[in-house]
Amino acid sequence: MIRKFKVAQRLFDISRTILHTKVAKSSRCLTVITNYVKQNTAAYIPVTFNHPKIRRLNEAFVFPNKLSYPDVYSCTKTIQAFVRNNRLNDALKLFEEMPVRDAVTWNSMIKGCFDCGNLESGFKLFEEMPERNVVSWTTMINGLLRHGRTEEAEQLFREMPLKDEAAWNSMIYGYFINGRVEDAVRFFHEMPSRSVISWSSMINGFNQAGKSDDALVLFRQMLSCGVRPTSVTFSSVITACANVRNLHLGVKIHGHVVKLGYLSDTYVTAPLITFYAHCKDIDSCCKVFKEKMHSSVVVWTSLLTGYSLNCKHEEALEVFADMFRFGVPPNQSSFTSALNSCCEVEALDRGKEINGAAVKLGLETDVFVGNSLIVLYTKCGNIYDGLSIFKEIAEKNIVSWNAIIVGCAQHGYGMWALILFNQMIRHGVPPDDITFTGLLSACSRSGMLDKGRCIFDFVSRYGSVKVKLEHYACMVDILGRGGKLNEAEELVRSMPMEPNTSIWLALLSACKVHSNLNLAERAAETIFNIDPDCSPAYMLLSNLYAFAGRWSDVSRIRGVMKSRRIMKEPGRSWVTLKGHRHEFLSGDRSHPMTTEIYRKLEWIGEKMKGLGYVPDQVFALHDVEDEQKETLLLYHSERLAICFALVCTVKGSTIIVMKNLRVCGDCHSAIKLIAKVVQREIIVRDSSRFHHFKDGFCSCGDYW
Ligand code: ZN
Ligand code: ZN
Repeated sequence: MIRKFKVAQRLFDISRTILHTKVAKSSRCLTVITNYVKQNTAAYIPVTFNHPKIRRLNEAFVFPNKLSYPDVYSCTKTIQAFVRNNRLNDALKLFEEMPVRDAVTWNSMIKGCFDCGNLESGFKLFEEMPERNVVSWTTMINGLLRHGRTEEAEQLFREMPLKDEAAWNSMIYGYFINGRVEDAVRFFHEMPSRSVISWSSMINGFNQAGKSDDALVLFRQMLSCGVRPTSVTFSSVITACANVRNLHLGVKIHGHVVKLGYLSDTYVTAPLITFYAHCKDIDSCCKVFKEKMHSSVVVWTSLLTGYSLNCKHEEALEVFADMFRFGVPPNQSSFTSALNSCCEVEALDRGKEINGAAVKLGLETDVFVGNSLIVLYTKCGNIYDGLSIFKEIAEKNIVSWNAIIVGCAQHGYGMWALILFNQMIRHGVPPDDITFTGLLSACSRSGMLDKGRCIFDFVSRYGSVKVKLEHYACMVDILGRGGKLNEAEELVRSMPMEPNTSIWLALLSACKVHSNLNLAERAAETIFNIDPDCSPAYMLLSNLYAFAGRWSDVSRIRGVMKSRRIMKEPGRSWVTLKGHRHEFLSGDRSHPMTTEIYRKLEWIGEKMKGLGYVPDQVFALHDVEDEQKETLLLYHSERLAICFALVCTVKGSTIIVMKNLRVCGDCHSAIKLIAKVVQREIIVRDSSRFHHFKDGFCSCGDYW
């Protein structure tokens, strides 16, 4: 008991000396101190201060009331803590009950009202305040500016009896956050004296306003005025160099940083790494990082993001893993960067591990982490996990809604997309152009002609979203799929902007589905006028001729392609297993497991024949003998990839295959049968969408 008391006393002494002490931050230490405080009322000050930090707010609140003479200082600290936790009413109640208040209490209460968005109470308190000091005025001005009420802030600034530099700086900062750059510049020039803080906030403001060139000019002026930069200044200037990709100047500033000894300052290190990453100099990123052992998550994340920015995703994921190894728990930005890297390399299993880590750190409901997870899952073929992540996100923003709507669209779950859209509207989230692109592509991929028309009409009339090229492309797709080719052509010709190749390609694809050669030739001609090297257009047209058996036209097109040196991209399919990508070309025999793969293929072929499968020669699209065509078809890359997955994965598990081109019609019918034979769900992402093959059917309804 005595020992415990002594420990508590010591902890208390330390915490009194340094209020920010880490000693009193942990819950267990606090309990010890609390017991000590119960016997020694003089000790309550640091305790009430530290409690709110670990969210034991109710306990903190008890202290001032329990004491016979609660002092102003501890009450003020409690008020600030209440405000930080968005409990304005509790703060106001305590404020009213206080027998004595000083200026700090008043100022804290005013700031609290603004922080919690209750501007009226803020104004009222400011009026009632017995003696306003310069901080009270600045608090009011800051609060007003943060709420976009610049005119009132200006008025108060004019009325302010004594303006110190902080007040001027507040005005400058406020102008920048409200997008009034010119006013900020005017104030900066009018101010009677400028410290390094004023210069730094101007440089930072220019950066935020997308005027990094001006930021650099100002930095030069600052140096010529003999003002010595601080780490905050360097941070902004380096960011400016990164924004304008000025490697030369950045390297020079790096030199200054080293000379002035700021290199180990987190404020400077992190932007410096980001700067080199933006300038594509990843070696220098590592060099800066390796200068010393960092414990700052911001520095680690900047290296991680740097790798990811330079498409070095494997390295990025390694940095992420190292963060755990070196005891630096990743934050929300580290997670989003790592997940984006997973998404780029389609590493679904790695993504799942990261998801697990996010759950452990309590970040799975975070909106930014959640949004990245939705994108990862939906892009890597797992729409169901995407949906459950979406449901878990505590405060969804527009990006979350868009990500899940687009995901449903890619997977052909059009009705889900529409239902989600309804929910989005009910939640009061206004849709933007990405939402509508998602909805329209959902309609096109699910064959919902009328709903698509309805949405397109709505976008055309809905004031706040401009109809974009993508919307037209989707609508052409919807009409084309519905067989309304003339209407689709009319829409293209009536567009207010110049239609681009992707719109004409949408029309051309529709012509292929409905075998309309006349319109196809017109569309292709237009495309060749815009882009004479458009490989997909040549391929579509050549396939159309092949369907029609017009082999001489096929060779004519092939001839043009050859003379223009347009390469047909070879079909490639791949499966990612345990972080490794196994890629196959058509008829590929280079994989180490070739024997097993072809044996599986043969076995499946027999089973399929039993179910009545006859290869559709038309899809071979080679002007060769029929028997040869059949063998070519059987070895299309996606079939090899599926057989590989069948050999290597657990019975009953879902197979996910990615393909760079569109799945051909024959492979499509074959995969439907394979899914039935092996009793597994096979998901194929081709260049146009996701196909979910199950029990002899595909989610695309045979249109893609
Ligand atoms: Zn095929
Ligand atoms: Zn399909």
